[in-house]
Amino acid sequence: MSECTRLPHFAERLRQAGAGAMHAHRVLRLWAQGRATTAGRRRVEDYFPRTLQLALPEIEGELAALATLHSAHPGADGSERLLVRLADGQTVESVLLPRGGLCISSQVGCAVGCLFCMTGRDGLLRQLGSAEMVAQVALARTRRAVHKVVFMGMGEPSHNLDEVLDAIDFLGTTGGIGHKNLVFSTVGDPRAFERLPQGRVKPALALSLHTTDAQLRRKLLPRAPRLAPDELVAAADGYARACGYPVQYQWTLLEGINDSDAEIDAVATLLAGRYGVLNLIPFNEGEGLPFRRPAWERAAHMARTLHRRGILTKLRHSAGQDVDGGCGQLRARVVDAETEAAQVRPLVRIARAVVDCGPSPQ
Ligand code: SF4
Repeated sequence: MSECTRLPHFAERLRQAGAGAMHAHRVLRLWAQGRATTAGRRRVEDYFPRTLQLALPEIEGELAALATLHSAHPGADGSERLLVRLADGQTVESVLLPRGGLCISSQVGCAVGCLFCMTGRDGLLRQLGSAEMVAQVALARTRRAVHKVVFMGMGEPSHNLDEVLDAIDFLGTTGGIGHKNLVFSTVGDPRAFERLPQGRVKPALALSLHTTDAQLRRKLLPRAPRLAPDELVAAADGYARACGYPVQYQWTLLEGINDSDAEIDAVATLLAGRYGVLNLIPFNEGEGLPFRRPAWERAAHMARTLHRRGILTKLRHSAGQDVDGGCGQLRARVVDAETEAAQVRPLVRIARAVVDCGPSPQ
């Protein structure tokens, strides 16, 4: 990861340009709000030192280049999937959710390799810097208001923990996002359980559980830490009680894999008395992934049964399912198309060369 993608780089850049703490705070706050640095109440000419005024256009240009819009894909449910281009040409996905939410990415690719996820297909390509995460928020805010940020896009946040925690701290202090409206999502990593309680901004926690069966979980999430489901739930529950926000247990529903009556029984026992809510999310069928989405009636039956057994359960659509809604599907499709185009282009050039070099008409 390049130093220029991290928040401390921009703090230092501003300091070197003559910005005091208040000046730097104003520049970064307005940027995170998706606004121009001239948008504040006090005029830049009256407030900023001359050296900063001169350096500002270049700094603003660097901030703007961190995340630019590759393409936007509105969904029928009010969500909008954004394919975001980073300064080095890599792409990640952000999703604007209905009611002011935004899902952002923390890595390009992911090392966990969940079998039901397109992002995990190619492994980890690179880490995102903290500024690149905030830049996704800034970009999204140029399109609509954002009051909630969830780290549930591409990547496993605990594999990029320092940068994610830095971005969370910034968003919860300078970025205007309420602490309970920041959601750290994880497959369950001891390092995250250790670090989250130490931060001054304590986000809510989402735990990707998916099954109560430890062996099945190891197969579905091959490179997740080897904590058993009951250990994961105990750790998540401890954090939730300390920060005061319930755990969001995530369960991607896969037909014939984790939607059985035995799973309903086991999860009812596992989550009994826990401070949390179970989100059942029917799998979004993507190209090349060997899973199916259960019938909606089956999913609704699971949710009703768990509810009756005292588990707060919500059956959710994954946002923007009509526009390659699963994590990484949109990027995968665009990258595949671009790779195909790159492979085709030389052929076009060769064909043109053959035409150009052909015998001239008599
Ligand atoms: S579901 Fe999340 S943790 Fe699993 S491979 Fe995809 S991005 Fe990584």
